Amino acid sequence: MVDQAGCIIKAENGEIQVLDQGKIVMKGVRKNGLYILVGSSTEQGISTSVTRDKTKLWHMRLAHISERGLKELSNQGLLGDDKVTSLKFCEKCVFGKATRLKFSLGRKETKQTLDYIHSDLWGPSQVPSLGGARYFVSFIDDFSRKV
Ligand SMILES: [Zn+2]
Repeated sequence: MVDQAGCIIKAENGEIQVLDQGKIVMKGVRKNGLYILVGSSTEQGISTSVTRDKTKLWHMRLAHISERGLKELSNQGLLGDDKVTSLKFCEKCVFGKATRLKFSLGRKETKQTLDYIHSDLWGPSQVPSLGGARYFVSFIDDFSRKV
């Protein structure tokens, strides 16, 4: 807690300040009997920089909701006084929603055996085979379908 960290808490005129060696590290404004933190918290700590655009913050609070969803909630007045603007780049969304590219359909006109071989490798298995093998490889001839 802030008091255990040696910080001083000062409250006056509906505003609360947390000071660490005379420097303001947190600031809050009283609203309906609660002090609302001004600024945003990050993994590194709490930043007191006043960011008026809370679009990204709401996006993250609401499990990376879409911009359309945010606008809808804002229109219904559910985000308080916070205005929603266009959502800027969110790295977590890009990586989280990235999907692997599909293999295109491989259409091969095979005219005789060994023209085209399908192969797959599986392993390592947690339990080795009786012979001590941990991998399984298959070869299927496209023309004859022999395995
Ligand atoms: Zn996101």
